[in-house]
Amino acid sequence: MGGRKLLKIDHNEPYLDVVWQVSNFCNYKCSYCNPGNYCGESRNDDNLITYINNLEVITDKYLELGYKNFKFFFSGGEPTLWRNLIPIIEWLREKLPNTVVAVNTNFSRPLSWWKRHYHLFDDVVASFHVEYADKDKYLENAKFMCDKLNYFSCKMLMHEERFWEVAEFGNKIKEELPNYFIEWTPLFDEMSANAGPWEYKDPNKTQFLKEHSIDQQFTIPKPYLKKPFYSEAYWDNGEKTGVYSNEVILERQNFFKGWECSIGDSIWINQIGQVSMGTCGQVKVLGNILWDTLDIGPKKIICQKEHCHCGTDILIPKRKVIDIVKE
Ligand code: SF4
Ligand code: SF4
Repeated sequence: MGGRKLLKIDHNEPYLDVVWQVSNFCNYKCSYCNPGNYCGESRNDDNLITYINNLEVITDKYLELGYKNFKFFFSGGEPTLWRNLIPIIEWLREKLPNTVVAVNTNFSRPLSWWKRHYHLFDDVVASFHVEYADKDKYLENAKFMCDKLNYFSCKMLMHEERFWEVAEFGNKIKEELPNYFIEWTPLFDEMSANAGPWEYKDPNKTQFLKEHSIDQQFTIPKPYLKKPFYSEAYWDNGEKTGVYSNEVILERQNFFKGWECSIGDSIWINQIGQVSMGTCGQVKVLGNILWDTLDIGPKKIICQKEHCHCGTDILIPKRKVIDIVKE
């Protein structure tokens, strides 16, 4: 694979990827989190009808241009506490049947909540935050969810002082769950107020993280649904492969200045409803999910940035302009 050059990234079928930080309210206040993610200044619990009307305006623009598929990834704050979450997902399920729904949750909702709503989700990332999580409740929920979804991940946030307690709890999950997918996750700079990666003081902790990234086991059936839509990479040696952002970065093929990028395939809605595209800053805020959707729709631009570094940005369809001229 050495030396090959990337020619194009495309989706196997057109789809719109929406990442939505629904609020900045969380019932936890993890010490490694930025207060802007839990303070609750923007709970956004009202305006359900406006959200739905505006979502319809936006998604209709994509449908008209042949996009049948959508992916919504809800985060926060804690998205399961957002009053509009379930009605909006129910609307998505009815109006846009080809929608993948994913959520990143602290898993603090009780088992009864997950029993009522698990069928609405395709992917659940259950983050374990040792300072606040109720371990028994987390384990009970995880046992229920482990055979219900295609993708259910226990994301263990490796707290500096309580590192080994988190490791012990992760091992308990491994002992008690017939299916598990555990991500041992070092604290990221994005979760702290400081820039730069989290440096663990104890070298044993760094060593543990070097040796453990993901642990998985599947011994009882789960849905195993085929991934309906995804990104594909076209290479100059004729290969067509799945897109693994890390691989693209390692092969130094993430330089797209002058390429045509379908940046409108990736929408970001922030905690105050502002809508932008991609994370690279090439398209600034275009509107607001509550009051300004005019400019939000499929969009292509010529990339002016040297370096495309975010995993989700790399997945966006893009191609060399020279190939467009040839066609
Ligand atoms: S890290 Fe997650 S669970 Fe913890 S306070 Fe922040 S948003 Fe809440
Ligand atoms: S940096 Fe932005 S515009 Fe350029 S290829 Fe990446 S996502 Fe597209």
